[in-house]
Amino acid sequence: MGVKGLAAQSLPIIRAEAQVERKVGYCVIGLGRIADHFMRGVAQGSTSKITGLVSGHRDKAERIAAQYGVATSSIYSYEDMDRMRENKTIDAVYVALPNSMHAEYTIRSAKAGKHVICEKPISVTVAEAEQMIAACKAANVKLMIAYRCQYEPLHLKAVKLIRDGALGRVHTINGAFGFNSPPGEWRLTRKLAGGGSLFDVGIYVLNASRYLTGDEPVAFTSYTSTMDHDGRFDEVEENVSWALRFPPGVLATGSCSYGTTMPGYFKVFGTMGTLQMEPAFNYDGTRLLGTYFTGAKGAPPVIIDETNPEKDPKQFEREADHFTECILENKTPRSPGEEGLRDMKYMEAIYRSQAKA
Ligand code: NAD
Repeated sequence: MGVKGLAAQSLPIIRAEAQVERKVGYCVIGLGRIADHFMRGVAQGSTSKITGLVSGHRDKAERIAAQYGVATSSIYSYEDMDRMRENKTIDAVYVALPNSMHAEYTIRSAKAGKHVICEKPISVTVAEAEQMIAACKAANVKLMIAYRCQYEPLHLKAVKLIRDGALGRVHTINGAFGFNSPPGEWRLTRKLAGGGSLFDVGIYVLNASRYLTGDEPVAFTSYTSTMDHDGRFDEVEENVSWALRFPPGVLATGSCSYGTTMPGYFKVFGTMGTLQMEPAFNYDGTRLLGTYFTGAKGAPPVIIDETNPEKDPKQFEREADHFTECILENKTPRSPGEEGLRDMKYMEAIYRSQAKA
């Protein structure tokens, strides 16, 4: 699952209240689209609850607070959210802000003594990601990056099949993810997004190539391009395609776009068969297809065709359940800050490797 280096992480000390069976309280920072999925996921689950909100729009926050039973005294502005240090109902925060704000709000939350789930990408630079990890370590709080696909059953099944050798030796992986971005989004500004389609949707394909191989890429090449000169891509790239080499020679290619719809998918080619997931990165309806030979003489190929029947916001419920369990049982999340840092390093390497066409 791309979690190399976890053994090297020191575990924080068990907090006294973690021994008591209770729901873990989350304060949501930034009440936009993904925050809505997360809050619905938490509400539908049984391990966690929403106990605080941080927003620049008090009226919106009050509406959402009423919906989720959050005390109005637990609504903060961006300026005064550090006061949540005194709020015992808040154990953790969920950072659901534009990318370039992840570092500041993760670090401030850690300093307020709160565990942090931060949305992907972890940050907009490697240096910031390192500061976030260091701040959480120093404050003895946990940091998880919200890689929801790493918790989704069909992704986990694909990983297990590959690890169990069902596909034989994997040679190649490819994947893509993209959408036609409307104008006027923070995603299209460098100051808030840090990068273009790679940071937003390409990261899913990159991250999948790492958990599918269970390995880390060592060589990078890429192209970026902009085809729509309509003002949307003055600051960030529209399209990126890349090729990565993993030891001992597995090649992973990926593409992402802000200019056209690319239903998220990956395909894995091994010596004994293939696996394909499409849709792979949607909030629900994921489908895993596969054909592989067991090697038994005369045996027909094994055929896989499974669709996950779970509905949105189940992936977010599962993500919150996992982090809550990590907090209560003092475990390291499956996708800790270090996992986000690795993707940051590889995305920077992909940008740096851009072939000059
Ligand atoms: P959004 O625009 O819907 O929400 C962003 C929130 O940040 C809004 O509430 C907005 O008011 C607030 N905000 C505070 N300061 C802001 C500023 N200066 N400019 C713009 N907004 C500001 O965005 P979103 O789609 O919810 O994305 C938020 C984060 O979640 C991003 O990092 C994105 O990469 C990530 N994301 C993750 C997934 C996933 O499936 N895991 C999906 C979508 C987005």
